[in-house]
Amino acid sequence: MSVREIAVVSGKGGAGKTTVTASFALLSGRKIVVDADVDAPDLHIILKPEVLQAHAFKGHKIARINKRLCNECGLCRKLCRFNAINDEFSVDEVMCEGCALCYFACPESAVTMEEKESGFWFVAKSKAGIMVHAKLYPGEENSGKLVTQIRRKAKEIAQEENVSLILIDGPPGIGCPVISSTTGVTDVVLVTEPTLSGFHDLRRVVELLKAFNSRMWLIINRFDINVEKSQEMENWALSSGIEFLGRLPTDPNIPTLQAQCKAPVEEDTLSGEMLKEMWEKLTEEV
Ligand code: SF4
Ligand code: SF4
Repeated sequence: MSVREIAVVSGKGGAGKTTVTASFALLSGRKIVVDADVDAPDLHIILKPEVLQAHAFKGHKIARINKRLCNECGLCRKLCRFNAINDEFSVDEVMCEGCALCYFACPESAVTMEEKESGFWFVAKSKAGIMVHAKLYPGEENSGKLVTQIRRKAKEIAQEENVSLILIDGPPGIGCPVISSTTGVTDVVLVTEPTLSGFHDLRRVVELLKAFNSRMWLIINRFDINVEKSQEMENWALSSGIEFLGRLPTDPNIPTLQAQCKAPVEEDTLSGEMLKEMWEKLTEEV
């Protein structure tokens, strides 16, 4: 069975991406939800997943020195560009970049490269069905690898359960995790706000996404804070081959909904109604 993947992204945080994803997740039928914002996940606040499986994520390797084999010649310390080896010939886990230079250089074969736990990923049952999500430990890198890992798991579950849709809440920005979240997806929904910086970030993320040949859709959130800029962005999107999914107004219900950990579609709200229309349009067209 072919699986469609829809990723929701924004050029920067705080544009309303998670609200949109949570709403779409609650509106859609059978699907797997992925929270690919592994550095700062927040989809769980609305979807309240109950963990079914937890797995450690080993993002990269670090060096370890076997004191019984080490003759303290100091070569590894001299070579390490990251000052990760101290006077006692122990490796600082935070400083070590895993380049393995010490491993290859050690004349006593006292160095081993060992996988380091960098976070966790989970399969869970949420308000919107099966959800795959993750958390990277603070300061850890390799979020792109973790995103790839949870997308792979979501696909596996989709195949096993005959589910034809995967909905991905992508990370903000244009870095490596965004690429990992959007590579190969069928559709990308871009969520933005009508501000100068919002427009700038939107153009940057679209430039990046052009390489992937996914169908792109635009939602302008809080369009009423600058109606002219909204129109300008809408015109730009249409002339850039991006399909326009709709505008969301500033919704006074949002702070209350956030405090209750709810999405707009869970209550009788104007933005909830509009999100329903957008989801219908997206799925009709998809
Ligand atoms: S290079 Fe090998 S033997 Fe020399 S100090 Fe480092 S770990 Fe010890
Ligand atoms: S693996 Fe590289 S960064 Fe880590 S201690 Fe060895 S030389 Fe330094």
